[in-house]
Amino acid sequence: MIRLYLKNHTLSSNLEHFNDKFVAQLNDTHPAIAIAELMRLLIDEHNLDWDEAWRTTKNTFAYTNHTLLPEALETWSIELFSRLLPRHLEIIFEINHRFLDEVRVRYPWDKEKIARMSIIGEDDGRCVRMAHLATVGCFAVNGVAEMHSALVKGTILNDFYELWPEKFYNVTNGVTPRRFVQLSNPGLDSILRELAGDKWATDLNNLRILEPLSEDSGFQARWREMKRLAKERLAKRILERTKIVVNPESLFDVQVKRIHEYKRQHLNVLHILSLYNIIKQNPDKDFQPRTFIFGGKAAPGYYMAKLIIKLINSVGEVINRDPQVNEHLRVVFYPDLNVKNAEPIYPAADLSEQISTAGKEASGTGNMKFSMNGALTIGTLDGANVEIRDEVGHENFFLFGLTEKEVAETMTNGYRPWEIYQNNLQLRDTISLINSGVFSHGDTELFKPLTDNLINHDPFLVLADYQSYIDCQNDVSNAYTDSPHWQRMSILNVSRMGKFSSDRSIREYCDNIWKVNPVTVDAKMD
Ligand SMILES: *Cc1c(COP(=O)(O)O)cnc(C)c1O
Repeated sequence: MIRLYLKNHTLSSNLEHFNDKFVAQLNDTHPAIAIAELMRLLIDEHNLDWDEAWRTTKNTFAYTNHTLLPEALETWSIELFSRLLPRHLEIIFEINHRFLDEVRVRYPWDKEKIARMSIIGEDDGRCVRMAHLATVGCFAVNGVAEMHSALVKGTILNDFYELWPEKFYNVTNGVTPRRFVQLSNPGLDSILRELAGDKWATDLNNLRILEPLSEDSGFQARWREMKRLAKERLAKRILERTKIVVNPESLFDVQVKRIHEYKRQHLNVLHILSLYNIIKQNPDKDFQPRTFIFGGKAAPGYYMAKLIIKLINSVGEVINRDPQVNEHLRVVFYPDLNVKNAEPIYPAADLSEQISTAGKEASGTGNMKFSMNGALTIGTLDGANVEIRDEVGHENFFLFGLTEKEVAETMTNGYRPWEIYQNNLQLRDTISLINSGVFSHGDTELFKPLTDNLINHDPFLVLADYQSYIDCQNDVSNAYTDSPHWQRMSILNVSRMGKFSSDRSIREYCDNIWKVNPVTVDAKMD
């Protein structure tokens, strides 16, 4: 950036207007070191004084926060920093020194606040708090959904918000309709081309053209056929990749995302096992057949997430082989989920699982990809689910679970999961089933770390939301049997997803944060 700037501004080589020409968006805290690096370049290599360099740097960077989870808020030990980047550390100390002087002037007696806000943490070993460095060194800080941005201001960066309220923004995430509809879903793309022309995706509000067709029974039938073809395509991929046969006529119930306890894949498994118990006890009852599709990776050191993957695969192996249940239930773990492999999944989903503990999912983007492809969502009031539900209509969204406020209250009042466990027979039977050894070749210990953790700690309130989830899943099954009603809800979901185009997100960054105007560029490809 400096090289380009100097090439075009030979007369003002002091870089004083650098930040008029460049803005750098820090995508999470990972690149926050860039703040110290730009300071180093401006001071050591381009001879700016501190104040000039700091004004330029602060006006160059903006920071997007992506999570509130403590494990993702990076800190780096001073020892490591001083060994690898001694000059950067020196600059960070000076930034902090000047920053804390500013805080002291505002809050002269508040020693605790000053310690809380410091870029240098003293908690267990001295460290650099990268989120604090980013917040101090940027002119804008944003979260990625309305609820998440409110929580950033109200919790992790609350002290900074009180000091600089004007620095805080929201930019709700979006997904690109080029990849996640046009490329992934040829059936839907062809319907939309027919209705709105080849360029329908350049303004995603064009999806509104579907709205009046939601009541049209001919169109509903066509919509259903489009979904069935996508499900057949996915069924073929599943067979090739896992050797599991799935029935495209069944309800495709899908949860694909990184495996993490806060995303609660194990809550989904508890639902499957509750159905398994009911089917075993009532073999002649009518059931809405379902195919449960999971996919996602666990971080290599995350033991509990890997045990959840093991549980899903183990439950699948037994259920898919058991003739008493496999007419009704199938369970697939779709291997090696990445952005490319996930493409055929979104168009084939009937139900999108967005079941994180309220307050933990910053935005989610999988939720948007599914809804844009006509899946209905079963979800909590978390991240962008809140805004999706407001857009598509509350009656077209399956809501369950505690709110973020209720989650916080439950934790403050002392959460006792074992009481829920004791008082819910269906839940008890489900957890006993996991430990019976049926899914683990007789090993009754294998899944104990998981079930013990749920009964005794349950940090993500799986048991607190269990009954609400089961009841809501029952509503889903009932709604699915009324096909015209389901098709109507599905069409309305797609019709009302215009807000969640990444084009809208980028425009908001341009207008509200970067303050840049569009220019026409020649994008000839030859
Ligand atoms: C979109 C996407 C995600 C994000 O999913 P969430 O449900 O928002 O967590 C994760 N992994 C892949 C491969 C994706 O394409």
